[in-house]
Amino acid sequence: MPIESVASRHARARTRASVIAPDRRDLSRTTFVQPDGRRIHVYGEVRGAPAAGAPRSEPTALHLRRDELSASWIAISPVRNERPHRSAPTDIGTVPGSPAERYGCPLCPGGPELAFSYEAAVFENRFPSFALAPPNVPDPSDARFARSLGTCEVVMFTERHEGNFATLTPEETGRVVAVWRDRTAELWADQRLAYVLPFENRGEEIGATLSHPHGQIYAFDHLPPWIERRAAALADGRARTGACVSCAVIADELASSRIVHADPHWTVGVPFAPRWPFEVHVRAVRHGARRLADLTTAESRALAGALHGVVERYNGLFGFELPYMMVVQEAPRGADDWHVAVELFPPHRSKRLTKVRASVETSTLLFINDTLPEESAARLQGVPVIPREEHPGFVIVAGADARR
Ligand SMILES: [Zn+2]
Ligand SMILES: [Zn+2]
Repeated sequence: MPIESVASRHARARTRASVIAPDRRDLSRTTFVQPDGRRIHVYGEVRGAPAAGAPRSEPTALHLRRDELSASWIAISPVRNERPHRSAPTDIGTVPGSPAERYGCPLCPGGPELAFSYEAAVFENRFPSFALAPPNVPDPSDARFARSLGTCEVVMFTERHEGNFATLTPEETGRVVAVWRDRTAELWADQRLAYVLPFENRGEEIGATLSHPHGQIYAFDHLPPWIERRAAALADGRARTGACVSCAVIADELASSRIVHADPHWTVGVPFAPRWPFEVHVRAVRHGARRLADLTTAESRALAGALHGVVERYNGLFGFELPYMMVVQEAPRGADDWHVAVELFPPHRSKRLTKVRASVETSTLLFINDTLPEESAARLQGVPVIPREEHPGFVIVAGADARR
């Protein structure tokens, strides 16, 4: 997307936002393009430049295969087995004496990905499962193959290695939401992409190999099956009743005992029919807030605070950093009744036991939840959450692109 259109869109957003929340703060974005074509977006102060000649992994074997028996696509991504693990050496391009060397972490300042200190940053994954220029399929004459077209980005929540979403400062969580808004708006503008999915895999139980607070954004050229099904449910509800299913769900949630945090902009609670024991959904109340980019500054600020509070309750209830999957669910194209939501799925059902997605769930997608949602909600409600100061509503301002 040309940088001019990003800037003008944000200028329009600033005009709107300034009426709603005068304390919004500009956050500049500077984009570096590395020699291998991968982009790095630095948000806020620019304190350095990417190291020249950072190593790149060529995604040679990526492709999609269609399972004819379910008419669904499976992504084959063998290169991912070479990803860095915490225990593996990460000294390629590591600056001596840097946090990257001290923690043995490739995401820390001074590491192979970000050679310098940063406030927040996004870079294209060196080990992508999807690429905008994916390799050709193994056999072009076989229609069961397709190219793995999409993107895989890594979102750095903070430069600090230790901690988790609940230990981020108010500024840092506000910045994370602003960065998500900026990146998703640009990815959705690419008509090749059918779905954009920001997420965080937290904890070794989830397969997160690096503990440094960070998330990812994947984008795909096919609508994932579960998203397709949810969009169809909204369309079906609209056709049957003439009304928005999401608005009806929100009214039901607000009247329930499952809300764990009161907020005028978001329902924050255990859903009526959760799949996971302590699943929490944070869903936009306002009809028309379909994606992160639709949010007002006030809604963005409230979202950052709500997410921080949920993770704080998780950690407080279990007494340790609770592993979880956190996904941002934005509206696919044409899904007008979709309300943007952040959904969190921790696998733990007690301090020692984790729910395993076993035979029935894996083979049928019929989930069996052995906790009562109302009880899970009551336990989360009982966790004291320390009120914290207001964070600024960040608005991204695109700066000049830089090349390296
Ligand atoms: Zn780190
Ligand atoms: Zn609605």
